[in-house]
Amino acid sequence: MFQVARCSAVALVVLSISSGCGGGSPKVAGPPCPAPAGAPVLADGSQPSGPATAAEAEAFIQQVSEQFAKLESDAERVSWVKSTFITDDTEQIESQAQERLMEFLARKIREARRFDGLQLAPDIARQFYVLQYSAELPAPADPKERAELAGIGTKLDGMYGKGKYCSPKLKGLGKDKSAECLPLEDLSAILATKRDYDLLLEAWRGWHTISPPMRPMYQRMVELANKGARELGFRDVSDIWTGEYDMKPDEFRKEMARLWTEVRPLYEQLHCYVRAKLRKQYGEAKMGKGKAPIPAHVLGNMWAQEWGKLYPMMEPYPGKSQPDITKALAAKKYDAKKMVELGERFFVSLGMDSLPKTFWERSMFTKPRDRDVVCHASAWDIDRVDDLRIKMCIKIDDEDLVTVHHELGHDYYFHYYKNLTPLFQGGANDGFHEGIGDTLALSVTPSYLAKIGLFDREPPRSKEADVNLLMQRALEGIAFLPFGKLIDEWRWDVQSGKTKPGDYNAAWWRLRAAYQGVSPPVPRSEDDFDPGAKYHIPANVPYTRYFIARILQYQFHRALCKAAGATGPLHRCSIYGSKEAGEKLTAMLKLGRSRPWPDALETITGERRMDATAIIDYYKPLTDWLIEQNKGESCGWE
Ligand SMILES: [Zn+2]
Repeated sequence: MFQVARCSAVALVVLSISSGCGGGSPKVAGPPCPAPAGAPVLADGSQPSGPATAAEAEAFIQQVSEQFAKLESDAERVSWVKSTFITDDTEQIESQAQERLMEFLARKIREARRFDGLQLAPDIARQFYVLQYSAELPAPADPKERAELAGIGTKLDGMYGKGKYCSPKLKGLGKDKSAECLPLEDLSAILATKRDYDLLLEAWRGWHTISPPMRPMYQRMVELANKGARELGFRDVSDIWTGEYDMKPDEFRKEMARLWTEVRPLYEQLHCYVRAKLRKQYGEAKMGKGKAPIPAHVLGNMWAQEWGKLYPMMEPYPGKSQPDITKALAAKKYDAKKMVELGERFFVSLGMDSLPKTFWERSMFTKPRDRDVVCHASAWDIDRVDDLRIKMCIKIDDEDLVTVHHELGHDYYFHYYKNLTPLFQGGANDGFHEGIGDTLALSVTPSYLAKIGLFDREPPRSKEADVNLLMQRALEGIAFLPFGKLIDEWRWDVQSGKTKPGDYNAAWWRLRAAYQGVSPPVPRSEDDFDPGAKYHIPANVPYTRYFIARILQYQFHRALCKAAGATGPLHRCSIYGSKEAGEKLTAMLKLGRSRPWPDALETITGERRMDATAIIDYYKPLTDWLIEQNKGESCGWE
């Protein structure tokens, strides 16, 4: 469930979706650590004469904005075709379009340096900030190196996508019953459904054989991107990734650490309970005892990032759960389109617009029979006007019901900020973009499902049913938090050179042990490259956005429930049908990234700080129950 961590708003991969450093109302354009700029060129291509003026800066940023919108829209269209029809040709065309966009952005960021230090109108200055931080994979100016970087990007993506593990032990366990070579989808299904320790180990170990060949390429990618970053005036890529949050990079890292400290006790209680159950299942001989961490392959997920598949083993009050959503969807004969209509109806109930007609004509809801496509769920804004789409291979189950809401959240954001200037068309920060649909998904409560007729009647309310529901959600949402935090912590250190290439794998497992309390199930060495077995590393997609989104979704939910006049416990609140909640949400979406994110946060919540107390409130009944269950256990790990 909550597939945020696996989905991406493709439109945003190249232009990162957050705003620039500098806080409140920046007046002066420019990145934090000045470096010599390339030869300045004016927007019309001519060489400038004399010192830059504010008027030139304004003309420059306007032209960049327009050119960027056009190039990016072209690249989106190409990407859509590739993603819904994968061939060697479409892959190559996409890579070329991406390279053009990378080259354009890096060149314009370098040229923008000419205007450093000028006094500019706040709106213009902010566009410069957004531009400065827009290159997630900054291209070096040298054409050969740039092509090499784009080529590595495509290759790494392909290696991940085509990854398979062959083993006679796994024969008959994939979709293709005769196959011995299983793709990630099949290996993940084994981890999700089987409970044979050694079989799980085979699937886990197998998937982690796909990534060692990525290591030299990944190392080279970091080198080249760092070179590109230095040419743009940054120390390294981590400076860009951590500097785009309207605060200084080290302040941002401190903020993330603060949020983690606030939620860590809740994670520890969940970890403690789950570990005890798993020890009963597999025995202490395999699982260890005392404060031993949990082997990473028994949590129902390849990366131990979400543990929802273990729910049947963890169910607090057996038989007291709400009716099964997947079964209800089948009983009511839901198909893929009907699932999306259900999602749209939620947004419309808040007083928001219907999706455009072309959304229904151009989206991909099901996997075509006749060609390869990228099934990985994503939301699209092709032309920055209103050509909104989603691309999914929808399964008719509870997990994809949440994913549909998640993806529509992106599309509604696109829709409501489409009238802003192109550089402001983005989330207040990238975590905001990921958190909108997830906020609504928290309102998909049993009462809501009864109201819309998916359940025939409202399931009886009880403390037991509540604790069960919260456990189901915590196995996804709380289990995810340390993982969401650590991915970029590893990456920032790699990018900044703090972690050397000879220490990539050891550093990865140090973080996984420290944050998640999990351990590798078999010894690892620097011949392995386990980070590469997680999509967002080879695909170079920043990850902290998902950590932020998982915190924000509860903060938004609490504020919108208040606006909707709900008075009961947060986990029972559904904002469905509340125009008041819809107004607040829409007001924030319309800001895009034209303002620093605390302004956007304030629009919905009245607060200017990200705040984990909402998530703590939400799970309070479960936390109390867990503390009771964990009495006598030595919680924590070492
Ligand atoms: Zn997403």
